[in-house]
Amino acid sequence: MSTNTNNLPPVEALQALANQLFNALPEEAPKEVSFDPYEHPRATAFAKSITGEGVVPGVGVPVDEAWVQSGGPAPFAVSDPFNGIAAPPSATGLGASSSIASYGNTNTALPGAGEGNNYLPPGYEQTKSDQSTLNGGVPASVAGSGASPSYVHQQDNFSIKEPVTSFPDSNIDKPAGSKDIFALPYAGEQAYWSDVESILKLISISDAPSGISPLSPTADVHTPSFYFLQSREQPVQNGQLGGFTSGFDAYKIKRDFPILNEKVNGKSLVWLDNAATTQKPQLVIDRLSYFYRQENSNIHRAAHELAARATDAYEAARKKVQQFLGAKSPNEIIFVRGATEAINLVAQSWGDQYLKAGDEIIVSHLEHHANIVPWKRLADKKGLTLKVIPVDDDGQILLSEYAKLLSSNTKLVAFTQVSNALGTVTPAEQIVAMAHAAGAKVLVDGAQSVSHMPVNVQALDADWFVFSGHKVFGPTGIGVVYGKEALLNETEPWQGGGNMIQDVTFEKIQYHKAPNRFEAGTGNIADAVGLGAAIDYVTQLGMANINAYEHALLEYATYHLTQVPGVRLIGTAAHKASVLSFTLKGYSNDDVGKALNREGIAVRTGHHCAQPILRRMGVETTVRPSLAFYNTCEDVDRLISVLKGLVR
Ligand code: PLP
Repeated sequence: MSTNTNNLPPVEALQALANQLFNALPEEAPKEVSFDPYEHPRATAFAKSITGEGVVPGVGVPVDEAWVQSGGPAPFAVSDPFNGIAAPPSATGLGASSSIASYGNTNTALPGAGEGNNYLPPGYEQTKSDQSTLNGGVPASVAGSGASPSYVHQQDNFSIKEPVTSFPDSNIDKPAGSKDIFALPYAGEQAYWSDVESILKLISISDAPSGISPLSPTADVHTPSFYFLQSREQPVQNGQLGGFTSGFDAYKIKRDFPILNEKVNGKSLVWLDNAATTQKPQLVIDRLSYFYRQENSNIHRAAHELAARATDAYEAARKKVQQFLGAKSPNEIIFVRGATEAINLVAQSWGDQYLKAGDEIIVSHLEHHANIVPWKRLADKKGLTLKVIPVDDDGQILLSEYAKLLSSNTKLVAFTQVSNALGTVTPAEQIVAMAHAAGAKVLVDGAQSVSHMPVNVQALDADWFVFSGHKVFGPTGIGVVYGKEALLNETEPWQGGGNMIQDVTFEKIQYHKAPNRFEAGTGNIADAVGLGAAIDYVTQLGMANINAYEHALLEYATYHLTQVPGVRLIGTAAHKASVLSFTLKGYSNDDVGKALNREGIAVRTGHHCAQPILRRMGVETTVRPSLAFYNTCEDVDRLISVLKGLVR
């Protein structure tokens, strides 16, 4: 039997008492007290504060003296049980990200952001290289943990026909900075929001351009704005990167990404292959691990605790995607494997159902194969015509030519917001508006845009918007189709099976509405949750900040790259994001890639799954460095110095 230092009843008796108390509390409260320190930390901390026992070696838990003296149970909220407790595990990376916490004022550093609070769950081995970036293994905003509100909802109202899928998540719904008494475990960490907000106020960034007025096809000339490439002049002035003066510290951010500490060929890794895939912050790695250790279950179809935790976590991720994209409802967010599967879904469901011989689909010349092949296959199958919006020699969409392609036969326009091969940012709002004016639906491929710029699908007014999780710092194997809710519900499912049906007989099948309608079978639950964590991460950095920093870095890289003798930059649009495709005279692209790899620098060489646009630019392949917010001028300098070494 356990003992305690306050001459109180045995721990087991207190535990039973506390469980009774919690069960009488509103449903958001933790429903059980466990003395496993990793299971329900908030409730455990509270219980241990009563008994005076230490929770975790080296972690102080305040004993509530007043309670002890009064001899009776204090209301749950008399003291914040996390007060004085070291930061929970994955403080680095999300809430207490070293990079975020240390912007500006180090006094605002978040609990646990410092070293020494190594609060590791059992079985989690902290490696030496982890130590600078990790404070442990449990993510901060763990939706769907022990205090699952949805579990309670499901228990009371569980319906096989209409399983609850939009669960309340206090971490998501509450306004930034507010503190719940009955928050989920670690919700106290959310206090970092106020720090981040006050720091971000110091950063002055102008707004993105509002776009060119709709239905004005003559507006091929882009209005200058802060994220247009300004000039080919030296972009570092007075020590500032392209005049970019905020406290955005890519070096600190880099520390949130363990893989960026890797050595390749004895050199520290420079990851410039971000258009192919992005690296993952510790927060995302921790979130996946936490899911498999404490939440793993199939979702929606069981009344047990782990099913509720997994369902909560999955549906919370859906809601995060909804907010990230500015969608109206989580019902508009369908989880798929990635952008490729997303486009195939639309082609094989809506396209197959609504398009008929003679109808026309328009794509742009910039498209990735993922936004060509599914449409070409559908066109061949159904007798549709595929038309292509041309680009100019810089790789910019020719809106005036696009206007000529549109007619009442146009049923769909599918185009990319950012070209993966050239980096061109397309005038998306105008392309959408022009398509709608012609009565066509529009699919926007956001695979290369969501990690570089703020996206709002309602402002964009796209009918569908797709992206891949792995290109926005989330896991592979997870992606998203956003679709307008009414449109999704008017569309036949593309795959059949479990999870997407309301009722099945051998005579008749009734489908669920979106999103379940399009999520047949067991989906990639854990990676959806990981994607939610990645969205938390970029949201906290701020997409506008990311965009401004990357733009300054792109200007820096463009200037220096074009100073290297023999470099031909492929893709010179005024409005670009992240990508610097080039060839180097006298060298094959493979040779350049290998020379860079010898110095630990990762770039992509090849056709980048965008053969039509490379051929339009007169090449079969290019070398393609691509930037993310964790890249620095030093990374670019290392790339340039290898190229200069080659041509010397
Ligand atoms: N669309 C664009 C513009 C891309 O760059 C990519 C991948 O590079 C895709 C679609 C396909 O993405 P995924 O391979 O993740 O499905």
